[in-house]
Amino acid sequence: DGGAGGGGEGADGTPSAPGAEARQIHARALPGADGGAPGHVRRAHPVAAAGGGPRRAQGHATRQGPRAVLPRIRRRLHHSRRGCGAGLHPVRVGGGGAGARHALATVHAARHAGAVRPAVRLRRVPVRAPLRRHAGGAAGGGAQAVDQGAVAHPRQDRLRHRQEPLWALLMVVENSENPCWKATGFSVPNVKEQRKKHPTEATTLRPLDSGVVETRELDDAALLTSLAEKGLAVKPATSGDYHAVECDVAIVGSGCGGGVAAAVLASAGHKVLVVEKGDYFTPDDYSSVEGPSMERLYEQGGIFCTSNVTTVLYAGTTVGGGSAVNWSASIRTPREILQEWSRDHGLPVFGSAAYVQAMDAVCARLAVTDGCREEGFQNKVVRRGCEALGLPVDRVPRNSSEGHHCGSCYLGCPTGDKRGTDTTWLVDAVEHGAVILAGCKAERLIFQNNSGKNGRSKKCVGLVATCMSNGITKKLRIEAKVSISACGALMTPPLLRNSGLRNRHVGRNLHLHPVSMAWGYFPDTNQEPQLTGKCYEGGIITSMHRVTERTIIETPALGPGAFASLVPWESGRDMKERMRRYTRTAHAFALVRDHAAGSVYGEGRVHYSPSRGDIEELRDGLRRALRIMVASGAAEVGTHRSDGLRLRCKGVQDKDLEAFLDEVTVARGPMQPGTDTWALLCSAHQMGSCRMGSSPKEGAVDGRGESWEAEGLYVCDGSLLPTAVGVNPMITIQSLAYCLSMDIAESLA
Ligand SMILES: Cc1cc2nc3c(=O)[nH]c(=O)nc-3n(C[C@H](O)[C@H](O)[C@H](O)COP(=O)(O)OP(=O)(O)OC[C@H]3O[C@@H](n4cnc5c(N)ncnc54)[C@H](O)[C@@H]3O)c2cc1C
Repeated sequence: DGGAGGGGEGADGTPSAPGAEARQIHARALPGADGGAPGHVRRAHPVAAAGGGPRRAQGHATRQGPRAVLPRIRRRLHHSRRGCGAGLHPVRVGGGGAGARHALATVHAARHAGAVRPAVRLRRVPVRAPLRRHAGGAAGGGAQAVDQGAVAHPRQDRLRHRQEPLWALLMVVENSENPCWKATGFSVPNVKEQRKKHPTEATTLRPLDSGVVETRELDDAALLTSLAEKGLAVKPATSGDYHAVECDVAIVGSGCGGGVAAAVLASAGHKVLVVEKGDYFTPDDYSSVEGPSMERLYEQGGIFCTSNVTTVLYAGTTVGGGSAVNWSASIRTPREILQEWSRDHGLPVFGSAAYVQAMDAVCARLAVTDGCREEGFQNKVVRRGCEALGLPVDRVPRNSSEGHHCGSCYLGCPTGDKRGTDTTWLVDAVEHGAVILAGCKAERLIFQNNSGKNGRSKKCVGLVATCMSNGITKKLRIEAKVSISACGALMTPPLLRNSGLRNRHVGRNLHLHPVSMAWGYFPDTNQEPQLTGKCYEGGIITSMHRVTERTIIETPALGPGAFASLVPWESGRDMKERMRRYTRTAHAFALVRDHAAGSVYGEGRVHYSPSRGDIEELRDGLRRALRIMVASGAAEVGTHRSDGLRLRCKGVQDKDLEAFLDEVTVARGPMQPGTDTWALLCSAHQMGSCRMGSSPKEGAVDGRGESWEAEGLYVCDGSLLPTAVGVNPMITIQSLAYCLSMDIAESLA
């Protein structure tokens, strides 16, 4: 008990002084009460306790025997909870990963079952998310506010308490250091050095300063003054609950879709107001420390799993949305996908010259290049393995410079080199008078009766939003000629549903590009010059191998916390060994253009199961990734399956490799019945949950992005895509947003 204050809040949970220091995503000291020493091994695992250390074989696969999964998961959770405790102590290299992973599974399993009651309530929240604190309008800080109803659903509220120790396990730092990092060979990248290499203009002004209003530090009067100063008509609440604000276009979300729409519409002369629930950060704020950064920059603090516990979801929630935390891969929509969407889905925009021009405009604005001065370790591994096997390997274009080598973009690019919407489109937007309201969450859209005009029975006239500040007592009623939902594929459906829309496609048809990971260990000794470096250094995705028409192999960014939470638990000793090898363990993932469709049925409530065909594709992709690792010279390779399936490569014969690969499967989540092994898929690409369709029977919105139910309401984000795109979707989402917002601008003229 007793996380130290820092960053945005003081030790008593009250907000600290505003300004840069409060904004910065700091490493926070989280001293422990029992002083859990680094390297301390928890003895909870039945197999480990019985002397079942890591099992390895030379030249053949190994597995642990069948075990009951859930009791084991619960036991691990219990241990991490007892530490609430333990959660706030220096992370135990031996137990942290497994505890975290199993707790993650249990947290999300319990979300549905509502079965496990928390034994311990945290009295303090180690890293506070102001977003969370204010989401339900609760006053006060820290855990108290969480207790008082920051989360609407009581079951979710209980679960959040279990997530806190989980996060602390992954992020513990003292004075920006973590004793375990040294043992793993990890160190937080030296941002100052990197900035020197990529100097940005020395200025005290941040790129969005002329247009951003950060609600967190304001009270009612200051908010209204700021909005009025930025050219918006405001009417303070007199007796009611709402301040009124007027604009031409209200856009919810500032990510790939929202950022582009804001720029296009503001440049066309319309008064644009962007409502973004996340905060505004710049390279000076980014610490590259995993735990607190995930907490502040990711949806659900980075711990977001489907309710049926198959897939871990990653989505950005900050000014810039996903584009502020993504991995820079900037791939144009493949021609055959455009043909399919235009021909089979009756959506002419995808077959138009305007769409191709939009891709050109987007790539030009993001200064996309496929040049890369030096690849990072993981990409070198993929490239070398492919070349050794005679497989094609492509360069991946990026929205950063050729020399961009920071590897930390997933926690906000500390060098300022990556060109997210926060440094490109939103800058254009504010230069044309757009206002960005950061730390403000849209709650519902406002509709009027439309007397059946255009077949749409409703007309959208704006939205209601809540600011994330204790000082702001009233909600905002934002009146707009056009409203655009650009909340991303996970959050647009709840906004539309909560506002009363009923089209059956709202929330359905969710595609995730599920990902399954392979790893390969390349010892430091005997290191060949071509494979130097550490797994967390260098551009995140610079090389790609296509396995089949719908499966590709790329490389991820995994900080030590994410690594520890994803690798399987075999024993304390094994986990220590894995963490010791962390920096020289390369990961490559198979990503599938999924045919299966999931659903978003509430905020933070997602159901998803890959189809049998998707699993087969993933399995083939995973095997290919393992072959590539072996061909690249890995000493050991493996998967994330719960039994720790792995192969020692030294002296391995072809037949041994084939026998091992035959054993490789893509296991489903721990809640699936009838299997003794499990693994979690991951997804950073969410698409299709409010898809475009040629009629209300085919989609939630029409081919121009306008809701089939409400005139004046548009969707402009990843949820529009009719199917999965099959490659990293940023350029597709931005290009589509560009086309649609050009049309909207014309219709408003
Ligand atoms: C870790 C990671 C790595 C990725 N790597 C790549 C890559 O290399 N290449 C690539 O092409 N794609 C990548 N992606 C995917 C890509 O970033 C997303 O597909 C893209 O950002 C989605 O755009 P969007 O407009 O749909 O939503 P987002 O960009 O997610 O924007 C949605 C915004 O809406 C805000 N919001 C949500 N609800 C509300 C509300 N009610 N009120 C106010 N604001 C709200 C959110 O805070 C968020 O900022 C990655 C994603 C992640 C998370």
